[in-house]
Amino acid sequence: MKYIFVTGGVMSGLGKGITAASIGRILKNRGYTVTAVKIDPYLNIDAGTMNPGQHGEVFVLSDGGEVDLDLGNYERFLDIDLSSLHNITTGKIYRSVIEKERRGDYLGETVQIIPHITDEIKCCIRAAACEEIPGAGKADICLVEVGGTVGDIESMPFLEAVRQMRGELPVEDTVLIHVTLIPEDSMGDLKTKPTQHSVKALRELGLYADIIVGRGHRPIGSNTKRKISAFCDLPQQGVISAATVPDIYQVPTEMEKEGAAEVLSRHLHLESRGVDSDWYSLVAKEYTSRIEVGIVSKYGIEDVYMSIKEALKHAGRACSTEVKISWLDAERYEDRHLGEFDGILIPGGFGKRGMEGKIEAIRYARTEKIPLLGLCLGFQMSVVEYARHVLGWENATSAELGEGRHVIAILPEQQGVTDLGGTMRLGNYPITIRENTLAMQIYGQPVIVERHRHRYEVNPLYIPELEKAGLVFSGSWKNRMEICEVPDHPFFLATQFHPEFRSRPTRPSPPFIGFVKACSAVKSGEVNS
Ligand code: GLN
Repeated sequence: MKYIFVTGGVMSGLGKGITAASIGRILKNRGYTVTAVKIDPYLNIDAGTMNPGQHGEVFVLSDGGEVDLDLGNYERFLDIDLSSLHNITTGKIYRSVIEKERRGDYLGETVQIIPHITDEIKCCIRAAACEEIPGAGKADICLVEVGGTVGDIESMPFLEAVRQMRGELPVEDTVLIHVTLIPEDSMGDLKTKPTQHSVKALRELGLYADIIVGRGHRPIGSNTKRKISAFCDLPQQGVISAATVPDIYQVPTEMEKEGAAEVLSRHLHLESRGVDSDWYSLVAKEYTSRIEVGIVSKYGIEDVYMSIKEALKHAGRACSTEVKISWLDAERYEDRHLGEFDGILIPGGFGKRGMEGKIEAIRYARTEKIPLLGLCLGFQMSVVEYARHVLGWENATSAELGEGRHVIAILPEQQGVTDLGGTMRLGNYPITIRENTLAMQIYGQPVIVERHRHRYEVNPLYIPELEKAGLVFSGSWKNRMEICEVPDHPFFLATQFHPEFRSRPTRPSPPFIGFVKACSAVKSGEVNS
């Protein structure tokens, strides 16, 4: 097993995850099996209880792990399924060490950050690295991204663990990549001083960067590379320019041009192999048409719906259709704006705020025959909308929202649950698809598997009446409704699960493909809306 450690310098939000995932991709394109570990130095056990408005989307894995959104990038770039083991947090490390201490595993010892916490970190990294990747076996190379920035108090034990691992393993089995910012001054000159300082901070911790990836709006020229090479003590080929590109999936292409694969191969003693260029041709494909989708949400930041944004992009690319996304504030948008879109998407969410706006948008899409894709909360609100406006049950609502006729009720196993962390219905479940439905048309198979994250469900009590009124439940798991659709509509499909989490550039999600195709068809007049 070879390890690629990735640290960050100068500031957060540089796209360290995308950089690491792209490096993984260029090695995968050379036939290596690559896995990834993300370290988040916060005390939360996982991202499940964290406010997505502050930290971005909570990504859900097949095993139900609620993790940092970077794991989504690793899954999408590397086309692998990761597990909860692949997201290490300070919370998980300390919990495990404290549990061991209480059990008496450290008999008599004083339990300390070094060696107990660092040993635990190393052990977790190794366990994640060695875990079999479904369908791909054991990895050859493991990416280990240390979240945060060098110098943060929180990341110290993790960087110390990385230092120890580097010392314990043969030199050719590890490489350290430092991702840093190369800012521009008012004269347009690229400045290397912040990078020099962060490399110095890294050295104080006993870590030496083998490769420096310089992020910025402009590519780094050879003069700047020479300077970084001289001040940061590494060969010039080890300085990789990573200027911002319009589409994240083009980053591996740019890294290839910079010779990143050759530098990595030299460090890790990887044999030279041919390059599979499928990825590069996929991302270079031109769009031939364009649609505009309105996403109705209560959050102001796009990172909350990172996987939806990416899934739309994957489906768009498969259909050669550029998907422009407009974000509509569920509490403030005006009805007349809804008509301007080729499709409407209602994403997942929690709590009361913005709910009526979402229901209104669903009503508009249903009656005006605009393609609609509802996800999780969007599915639940589609059922509420149908009950209110087709069945005439004015007080129909979800138990999550308050009093009324609960067409959406709490899941039986959720009753009495008080802890919020890791207690929802999470991860993969199989779903049976009904014959002769839109769902069967888009999935093309009788049983599918998708990821979940919710506490409420369609109330089984009202299913017969909803179906009699025309709503079709086309997917289910036992007596639990998973997909609903409205017939005689260009495309009205909503899912209790989150198809966006399984979408990959190389394997776009069927509901997203169906939605994008329907939007294009309605736009071009092939289907009357
Ligand atoms: N709040 C809803 C539930 O808990 C929907 C969750 C979601 O959209 N992820 O069931």
